[in-house]
Amino acid sequence: MNKILLIFLIVIISCCNLFAEWISVEWMNDAQRIDSVYVIQLQQHIWVELQNIADLLGADWRCDSSGNHIRLDMPIEALIFTVNTPFVLAGDRTKQIPLPILKHDERFFIPIEDLIALLSEFYPGELLYDPASPALLLTPPRHDLFGFKYNTESGFTNILIPAMKLLECNDSKEADGSVKLVFKKSKIDTNAFKDQAIPDVISELSALQKDNDAEIVIKAKQGTEFDGVEIIIDPPLYCVRFRTQSAGGLRIDEQRRLEAEKSAWAFDVVVIDPGHGGKDPGAIGPTRLYEKDVVLDVGLRLRKALEKHGIKTVMTRETDKFIPLDERGRIANRSGGKLFVSLHCNALAHGKKAYGIETYFLAPAKTDRAMRVALKENSVISYEESQDQYQDLTEENFILLTMAQANFVRESEYLASIVQEKVSRGVSLPDRGVDQAGFYVLYGASMPAILVEMAFISTRTEENKLRDKKFRQAIADYLCKAILNFSAQSE
Ligand SMILES: [Zn+2]
Repeated sequence: MNKILLIFLIVIISCCNLFAEWISVEWMNDAQRIDSVYVIQLQQHIWVELQNIADLLGADWRCDSSGNHIRLDMPIEALIFTVNTPFVLAGDRTKQIPLPILKHDERFFIPIEDLIALLSEFYPGELLYDPASPALLLTPPRHDLFGFKYNTESGFTNILIPAMKLLECNDSKEADGSVKLVFKKSKIDTNAFKDQAIPDVISELSALQKDNDAEIVIKAKQGTEFDGVEIIIDPPLYCVRFRTQSAGGLRIDEQRRLEAEKSAWAFDVVVIDPGHGGKDPGAIGPTRLYEKDVVLDVGLRLRKALEKHGIKTVMTRETDKFIPLDERGRIANRSGGKLFVSLHCNALAHGKKAYGIETYFLAPAKTDRAMRVALKENSVISYEESQDQYQDLTEENFILLTMAQANFVRESEYLASIVQEKVSRGVSLPDRGVDQAGFYVLYGASMPAILVEMAFISTRTEENKLRDKKFRQAIADYLCKAILNFSAQSE
């Protein structure tokens, strides 16, 4: 949809309550219960408020700090919606709906037919829209456990069992080597476990209702070991882990996946930009850890991780060397980069404390916080010999400076949202959200570009984390995952 139409739609939403009405909600299990949802008629579609539907389904939702993203914790998977785009992130997949999501007055609107079709896939009860009445028809989920998914990651196979609420779960190893999970006082939809695809290291997976308790039995093939059950609280998920990596290296399906990824990326390059360097140390932690050293180490680890997946990389610096900001963008463009990822550590002035991860894409700063971060990262210019080439990143000349980036803003924002979600969740640091700000380092790059502030080096506890090799590796690994995920969506 073009921008003019989008603005037109937003203007209409703002000024015409004429078309607003209420649609009735019918609970198929409970004729007494009466609900309704607020809708707007627009462009031959009926638009409904996302939060309204989420509340109706009992799904938690929250917006990030930029206000551009809303996350819905559906029972089967969390969904992330981004304003003005038709893309919805569902775990590792991206779904596309026909029209972009609109936002007005803190409320997100989506055509009701598209939204219900999308949500019904992630809701274990019944959920239908009847345009003839019009009415929403639904039943609450009848079971606490309603199926499973699985994934494989670096030597592990995980069976993921989502639940409607937290359940008491006991796991035990049976005499025949299988693993039995008993969920106390729980109802299980046994059909949802029948005839489903299972990972090839598992020989059997079955579910049954035994009086009040639900049981799941998983039998692994030889050479695969049970590694434990991890419980994720919000939204509730039971992750049964099996160790699968054999001494002989990668398994065949893993190899196939890597091969496919390699060919998809045959001509593409990710530009890794460790911030600062040389005479510019970046921020310095309370026990004198230097930002320039941390980001270089994480950058090198990220290169290794990406290259393992057959992705070419270019680094703007590989050593402790000073590189002017505009040179970084030029390096990126010369290399024919597909993505530009700038790595930094956050910092606050003396004594102030803050925690967590932030990811930025290029656009005029909208919040004081974003402005502060941009000022700090742009201040490197004072280290450079000739400073005339940099103009102030004010709103006016911003347009000119960002011409190269203009085509990529939406993709950059999308990449930023994936990175933010994967990395903050992966390393369990607070999610400070995606934001926009004017960074000189990003404006020269003619490709989707983001800047990651990977924790507060000025906060003692986070400085300690940044010093830890394991933490640096985890940041690199989750960044790699996010980039793979982004690349898979944009093929
Ligand atoms: Zn920095």
